[in-house]
Amino acid sequence: MSANAHTTIIEILPAVADFLQRKHHLLIDGRWVPAQSGESFATLNPANGETLCSVAAGGIADVDAAVTAAQRALPGWAALTPAQRERLLHRFADLMELHKEELAQLETLDNGKPFRIAFNVEVNVAIGQMRYYAGWPTKLTGEIYAVSSPGFHVYTQREPVGVCAAITPWNYSLVMAVQKIGPALAAGNTLVLKPAEQTPLTALRLGELALEAGIPPGVLNVVTGFGHTAGAALSQHPGVAKVAFTGSTEVGKAIQRAAADNLKRVSLELGGKSPLILFDDVENLDAAAEAALWAIFSNSGQNCVAGSRLFVQAGIYDAVLARLATRAQQLIVGPGLDAATELGPLISAEQLARVQRYIEAGKRSGATLVTGGERLGGRLASGYFLAPTIFAQVADNAAIACEEIFGPVLSVFRFEDEEEVITRANALPFGLAAGVWTQHLGRAHRMAARLKAGVVWINTYDWFDPAVPFGGMGESGVGRELGRQVMEAYTELKAVWVKVE
Ligand code: ADP
Ligand code: MG
Repeated sequence: MSANAHTTIIEILPAVADFLQRKHHLLIDGRWVPAQSGESFATLNPANGETLCSVAAGGIADVDAAVTAAQRALPGWAALTPAQRERLLHRFADLMELHKEELAQLETLDNGKPFRIAFNVEVNVAIGQMRYYAGWPTKLTGEIYAVSSPGFHVYTQREPVGVCAAITPWNYSLVMAVQKIGPALAAGNTLVLKPAEQTPLTALRLGELALEAGIPPGVLNVVTGFGHTAGAALSQHPGVAKVAFTGSTEVGKAIQRAAADNLKRVSLELGGKSPLILFDDVENLDAAAEAALWAIFSNSGQNCVAGSRLFVQAGIYDAVLARLATRAQQLIVGPGLDAATELGPLISAEQLARVQRYIEAGKRSGATLVTGGERLGGRLASGYFLAPTIFAQVADNAAIACEEIFGPVLSVFRFEDEEEVITRANALPFGLAAGVWTQHLGRAHRMAARLKAGVVWINTYDWFDPAVPFGGMGESGVGRELGRQVMEAYTELKAVWVKVE
């Protein structure tokens, strides 16, 4: 948390300044229209609490108009040749690339994350995903089946599901939007995107770029607004065939319930409380501790795969904890536009208060506060900044050990052996991610097989690739995104029987 005396503030691009000057509307049927209620809301800069700009507050009527537009656009979009869809999606990716710096600045301003991370990680990942999905239309195939009744030719074909809804969170707004837009459009569906109310800006910019790329009106609609209004209306709408959601487990359950009435296809990427397990045979203790540090503190802990439960084997426990505490105190917390910043603010005053409540509960539970725990003042007082926080001697059943905090708060646990740590790591209803550090090959594979998690990282953490499926077990979600598996989630499979003899 050392205050950096030599700060370099990144200058806002004229295009970004211009974007923030404008009042933003909803993208419905290729046109920008105000909410039918006339209502709007402000999106804030979490680094200083100031208003960035005004955005339309979409409601039931707007969602209905967007779904209707998406229904109208569906036959035309699905009828394009695969090569035509690929070309348009590649053009979309090209425009994202051309406006990379602008997208990164918008994300930094709206979400708070360090510009360097927004630029090098978030925008790059989003572009990589868009290119990956752009390649899918020409690769979607069915199969031919060898059936045991004579005289038939039987095959399957993949068809679009229909109108899809994407409801996305604020922590990786751009990637989460593309992760749903890409496969939905590649498979020939049309989409209504509702970004998180905290971070609507990059979704709006994506809407502009989609139009510029020549994606036909109604294929991608963007309805900004709140979860209990616009989000709920989308998840209930009878015209929506599939809803893809990333967010909290609580809201995920509400969406699945709302989706039941017309049996929408549902994919849910939800919360986690992911264990990272360090065995005492790690090759390089400092490297393992550094990985554990970033597993929890990257994106200020606002990460669904955050390694928020660190299990350290007894032989290296003291050394790892000391190393982590030192490194946590060195991290530079500050505004995302400051080039030196390593950790930005939390997303909102509400989220800051929520994380602070967990820290107080942690103290009351009898856990030892090793470092951090306080809101940062001085030049950071007007933003939602929290010191990187580490608790040790945490009871396995304490709230900070069991619930997703979504902030820079780590719980460290000591363990003795493999059997014990498997039981403790698997004890929660979540099952999103897990990490294991060990040089023992057999142990690495045993652990990978037994951990309850949709992704297991061995001697690394938090890696993604568009080709690799991602998703959770248990209360961490339903279905998988990314990889060829997500294309299955955005298509219906039809079996065709032809009597040939
Ligand atoms: P967080 O608590 O981290 O903000 P949420 O799960 O509340 O995460 O939000 C993720 C997304 O879900 C946001 O776009 C939000 O507007 C939306 N959302 C919130 N509540 C509902 C709801 N009841 N129905 C549909 N969408 C919702
Ligand atoms: Mg904002």
